[in-house]
Amino acid sequence: MKYISTRGQAPEQSFCDILLGGLAPDGGLYLPKNYPRVSRADLERWRKLSYPELALEILSLFIDDIPVADLKNLCDKTWRADVYSHVRPGQDARQITPLTWLEEGKLGLLELSNGPTLAFKDMAMQLLGNLFEYELRRRGEHINILGATSGDTGSAAEYAMRGKAGIKVFMLSPHGKMSDFQRAQMYSLQDPNIYNLAVTGMFDDAQDVVKAVFADAAFKARYRIGAVNSINWARVLAQIVYYFQGYFLATKSNDERVAFCVPTGNFGNICAGHIARMMGLPVEKLILATNENDVLDEFFRSGGYRPRGAAETRVTSSPSMDISKASNFERFVFDLVGRDAAKIRALWAEVESGQGWNLSGTEYYARLPDYAFISGKSSHADRLATIREIRERTQILIDTHTADGMFVALELRHLLPPEIPLIVLETAQPAKFAATIAQATGQTPPLPADLANLESLPQRVSIIPAEVAAVKEFIAANAD
Ligand SMILES: *Cc1c(COP(=O)(O)O)cnc(C)c1O
Repeated sequence: MKYISTRGQAPEQSFCDILLGGLAPDGGLYLPKNYPRVSRADLERWRKLSYPELALEILSLFIDDIPVADLKNLCDKTWRADVYSHVRPGQDARQITPLTWLEEGKLGLLELSNGPTLAFKDMAMQLLGNLFEYELRRRGEHINILGATSGDTGSAAEYAMRGKAGIKVFMLSPHGKMSDFQRAQMYSLQDPNIYNLAVTGMFDDAQDVVKAVFADAAFKARYRIGAVNSINWARVLAQIVYYFQGYFLATKSNDERVAFCVPTGNFGNICAGHIARMMGLPVEKLILATNENDVLDEFFRSGGYRPRGAAETRVTSSPSMDISKASNFERFVFDLVGRDAAKIRALWAEVESGQGWNLSGTEYYARLPDYAFISGKSSHADRLATIREIRERTQILIDTHTADGMFVALELRHLLPPEIPLIVLETAQPAKFAATIAQATGQTPPLPADLANLESLPQRVSIIPAEVAAVKEFIAANAD
């Protein structure tokens, strides 16, 4: 399988060539040259497989430069019951992403947040850790990963990369701005290859510093700086697997169809759903849910995409979705415009100039229904009410991001044929966002037993100013 850039001006690459890089050299995002098609016979066979076996089948369709035996080891090592152990009582951790029915056969919750950091990013990031280690060892190389986090991504990256040979992680976080739990999660890691840098400032300041370091090509090359951000193709690929697993868990035969509802920020998770559908998974609808930061809901309702700046981005109770420039969206639009790279270059020139664009009235917009998306958004009050309602009705507690998905799912389910099971993707556990959950229910959600004293563990963090020079100096002193 070869990979091409959405901007059409970068060389074709194979999987391992794009694994360690970020954007394509022309500024685009890599996608497989074509989507492999899954046959009826494949679905019949796959329905009986364990999660790592299913993952191997799917990954093999997209990766031809890792021997199958090695890929099998990577899948077995990544999707293990003891890594994704935080399942609901009564669920089977061997399913990796168990399905909990809120209404039997009708409304289900696909548990994607049972990994070490209690958010769905572990699903893909754990694979990335193992793939990076494998590929770096094969090449005899090492990498220094630099990133900025407001919470979930940084911790998922650190838990995936901790103790891995050939990898160091330098993760910037805004000093004093994360929840106690998020802070404890990251800063309590004692692995010598993990460096937490708390920068005095906001998340955007940390992000700006990271961007400035990446812009310094000489520094980047000298210290082999790499990234694990959400545009990484391997992350999208890893996420395709649980759409198939969710389908198999929710249905009894491959004649059935399902709908997925996905709380969305960077369009990473739902991009995997789009690709699973393009591969032939029987998906009736993909329901996209945003919070108050609703650029993507706006697009699916109006055809207009107008990314907003930091000043227009609201801070909400589902903070991992507070995104106004969805970095993976370009992948979907590339498909929507018939993979016309010149059209993507024109559209993203408008995005980069701060203008945005509107496709309504065009042939592309006329084709949008073929892609099966519908969308909605929620407010803080909607999420609180949904958390309360679901708990009263089912005894099940959901987190604020999942509540966004659940609210939109309940609002739009009347658009689905009644026999179609609706699967809401659970993207985090409520314990991660305890303050809002307490506001909704009057009770603080319990932590999983193995994380109960996380906040009392010793923490390891360096506090530094939000200055490019300070961060470069730190990296230079500690990098491999
Ligand atoms: C990252 C994240 C999201 C958004 O996922 P995207 O892939 O960016 O759309 C939703 N919920 C939680 C809890 C997250 O951490």
